[in-house]
Amino acid sequence: MPFVTSCPVGCEAGFRESDIRMPEGPLLVCEACGHLVSQIEEIDYHAALAKFDTESGTLPTPLSQKRHDQRARRLFARVRQLLGLRPGTSFRLLDVGCSSGALLLSAKKEGIEAQGVEPARRAAEAAQAVGLPVFAGTVQEARYPREHFQAVTMMEVIEHLHQPIDAMKEIWNILVPAGVLVVGTGNADSWTVAVMRERWDYFHMERYGGHISFFTPRSLERLAGQCGFRIERLETRRVRFAESFQVSRAVYRTLKIVAEVLNVPAMWFHKGHDMLAFLRKV
Ligand SMILES: [Zn+2]
Repeated sequence: MPFVTSCPVGCEAGFRESDIRMPEGPLLVCEACGHLVSQIEEIDYHAALAKFDTESGTLPTPLSQKRHDQRARRLFARVRQLLGLRPGTSFRLLDVGCSSGALLLSAKKEGIEAQGVEPARRAAEAAQAVGLPVFAGTVQEARYPREHFQAVTMMEVIEHLHQPIDAMKEIWNILVPAGVLVVGTGNADSWTVAVMRERWDYFHMERYGGHISFFTPRSLERLAGQCGFRIERLETRRVRFAESFQVSRAVYRTLKIVAEVLNVPAMWFHKGHDMLAFLRKV
């Protein structure tokens, strides 16, 4: 029996089978919001998650650290803007699903008061070992004080969650009034998915350590509404028509050029496959 039996964002409508064929069965699509879910069984889902619990987590290499810091700096600047804070001001941040603490390290460099929560034990321990304040467990288990954090980030996490509503409601509790939640996830309503279907690597449970839930701008908006948030800004970027290992180098290069041309209209129409949403607690 599949682990996910109803739309994770709380729709009452049923699922129908999509034409995206995965080894565990076609992805199911919610009739109401277009959200996609895997038909993976619970035991296989946990096995996929466990495989990705490593000490290195997503800690950047020294080479990628600089780029990572730059990206984080831009993200923090936008959070400050939404919070009405002056550039460079510190704020209280929680990174949910912080892995071994890459974003926390960038936050620390900016003087931001940042904490993390990570259920994958070895990744959490790696973060703790370098002195980062990380709770090993879920955000619900951490029992942070109510209305404490000004901002919460949840990057590439929500697609792993069986019950995103529970995590979102707890995040609502621990955010200050009008606090900001940043969600980064894939976009199942992207041109990448329209063209690639099951060839999009992101859908693969094995390679991505437990991706079970695939959001669209519509399903994310519905989830936000269910949990007391409003989407202030939603952006998507990047399209892709093949993974590098699926086609010859020449074909890949050509497809990459086409994809680059389509990047700009993809941003206009919310059809890029990387989705970033800034939610406000209401
Ligand atoms: Zn739905």
